[in-house]
Amino acid sequence: MLLHPSSHNPSALHEETCDLLVLGAGAAGLMAAIMASQRGRRVLVLDHADRSGKKILISGGGRCNFTNLNCTAEHFLSANPHFARSALARYTPHDFIALVEKHRIPYHEKTLGQLFCDRSARDIVAMLEAECHAVGVRILLHQHITEVRHSEGFVVHTPNTNYRAKTLVVATGGLSIPKMGATDLAYRIAAQFGLVIEPCRPALVPLTWQTQDSAHYADLTGLSTEVIASQGRTRFREKLLFTHRGLSGPAILQISSYWQPGGSITIDLAPDQDCTAPLRAQAGGRDAAKFRAALRDVLPHRLADRWAVLHSPSAWTNAALLETEDRLHQWQVIPAGSEGYAKAEVTAGGISTAELSAQTMESRRVSGLYFIGEAVDVTGHLGGYNFQWAWASGAAAGRAV
Ligand SMILES: Cc1cc2nc3c(=O)[nH]c(=O)nc-3n(C[C@H](O)[C@H](O)[C@H](O)COP(=O)(O)OP(=O)(O)OC[C@H]3O[C@@H](n4cnc5c(N)ncnc54)[C@H](O)[C@@H]3O)c2cc1C
Repeated sequence: MLLHPSSHNPSALHEETCDLLVLGAGAAGLMAAIMASQRGRRVLVLDHADRSGKKILISGGGRCNFTNLNCTAEHFLSANPHFARSALARYTPHDFIALVEKHRIPYHEKTLGQLFCDRSARDIVAMLEAECHAVGVRILLHQHITEVRHSEGFVVHTPNTNYRAKTLVVATGGLSIPKMGATDLAYRIAAQFGLVIEPCRPALVPLTWQTQDSAHYADLTGLSTEVIASQGRTRFREKLLFTHRGLSGPAILQISSYWQPGGSITIDLAPDQDCTAPLRAQAGGRDAAKFRAALRDVLPHRLADRWAVLHSPSAWTNAALLETEDRLHQWQVIPAGSEGYAKAEVTAGGISTAELSAQTMESRRVSGLYFIGEAVDVTGHLGGYNFQWAWASGAAAGRAV
């Protein structure tokens, strides 16, 4: 099947043959390439970008949150929540930390088991490139892939060269941040071979206001507070950030992965606090000023003032104060939408795990064809889990090919 019909060149000038072709020089692709090459395979990595690991470079605010010490399958979304277990168990955060320490890269734990580089995400890309170099992985950049064919092995066409290999690992990632070179190549190759794809959606993404909420809250831009954001039974206690367009911050990014368009999210703006308890304990003398002061004792002042204006109790009775208290802990927001793939840290959904071996990531339908990383329907929480999935799924494929 032609992936870019207009640019197909049947008479490519060159032919190259190797044991393993990896499409995508990102986190998962480089890990798979290193592992396979360590086992003596001749590996070629093709990428259309002008350098490898571009998303790693921008990750974690430039410091790359490269893993999480508490990595378990519970931190991932997938149509099959058990699928990730095997790969995660066989390549753990400690395996990646050992690699980081071998390269003497300084790092620290920021919060909740999240490990970041002290200096820069460039250290992680340099480490992966050095590992590739040491074991003879060749990385070819600026490769415009026009077609993938399969007869005896795989042939990947580019305008100048046909690359042949018995085994093909597809590691071209998801749809998030098209400006960084994200494309749907993995899904198109999967579709070409008849693999089922779970519907994709932006995840770990800021959510946007409806018009009325925008009028009420958009000028709180920049304000941040600790909340519990929930959706059904899933809850995240982290910071929320008011933005010009809606809500962001870790708590919202986390819950966005569970949010479905049209649905609501619930926000507890004052976890473990009872703001109106002092007022309810008073026999009388309750008024708007005292209500606002009680909120200010718990919430950031600008938010307290706005909440007092919008949600003053209907009467100064204990029952009405309790109702107001409840609203503060169960603020129902129905977002208009999300900021989409342009701002999403990852893509949820993707190549169905039912199509792949959980041990090796090989397609059950097409022998020799592997999918790894973000392209697969395994999506991590915020906090280094997505990279750990990229390393672990890459290692699973690299050990098997
Ligand atoms: C702003 C931002 C910050 C993030 N921070 C973190 C973090 O701190 N911690 C964490 O765990 N996760 C983080 N993530 C998520 C993480 O970057 C991804 O989950 C991870 O990079 C996925 O790895 P991958 O190898 O599957 O895909 P990618 O890293 O996206 O690599 C895919 C590769 O395929 C190439 N490619 C794509 N299409 C084509 C094509 N048509 N032809 C040829 N090559 C192609 C791309 O150029 C790229 O090199 C962040 C994401 C973003 C956007």
